[in-house]
Amino acid sequence: MYLAELKFKVIADTSFSRAEAAIRAFSEALIFNGNILGRELPTAWQQDRFSSRLVIPAPDALQRAHLSSRAQQAEQQLMAAGLGYPQLQVLGMDIMSQHSSNSAAEALVLFTTFNDNCSPLRNLADLAPVPLYQLKPAKGGDHESLIRWQIQFQALDEVQQQQSRVLKKTAENSLQQYHSALNQQGRQLAGNLSRGNGLPVYYALYSGSSKNCAAEATKPCPGCGDNWRRAQPLLAIFDFKCDNCRLLSNIAWECQTP
Ligand SMILES: [Zn+2]
Repeated sequence: MYLAELKFKVIADTSFSRAEAAIRAFSEALIFNGNILGRELPTAWQQDRFSSRLVIPAPDALQRAHLSSRAQQAEQQLMAAGLGYPQLQVLGMDIMSQHSSNSAAEALVLFTTFNDNCSPLRNLADLAPVPLYQLKPAKGGDHESLIRWQIQFQALDEVQQQQSRVLKKTAENSLQQYHSALNQQGRQLAGNLSRGNGLPVYYALYSGSSKNCAAEATKPCPGCGDNWRRAQPLLAIFDFKCDNCRLLSNIAWECQTP
């Protein structure tokens, strides 16, 4: 990922609230198409311009060809609010975040965790994040439905990682039960992305705890009931893989011997 600065020059009469609303609409459109990462866009007003700091998946992430039609319309609205075309300056590689995939993916996996600041679609060859704007959305004109799924997944994961959980089992159940609303939504998104982009998209089913650690290593695929245990874990994480159901998972973390 790269750290960048986006400058919006004031070129005509405007007010703070009009400029702020236009920048907010533009940045939201970029977030929901994966052009910029994270949920916040710190922005300073510097007399004749506004400057925002952002993390982008690749140096060319904001090129016109990568923008959704919603982002292009929001860009036009910047002019109507008295601002010039946004000018991007890439400051350098972000040393705090993962690097985007460089190779063309033959298969993807929908996988995210609470502390990710990257695309939830990873190259199945190396687990490197694939910028969302490179893919056809699961539904609609951009990736908003996928980003909103990721927001909920990460929020629940964050809760269940805490030592003093405020939701004892609810968060974890949502994450690890095959039929939870979260996982149904995720599998549906993965299926739509697979059909739209013409490549397999696996779904990573989280597994944290188990009522029966003795049976955990031989548990069947929750989709079809087949044996899905791999001889060797895939990418050092996934002990289970079902090609029929396009599902990946792990031996529950609490059952793994250190
Ligand atoms: Zn299966």
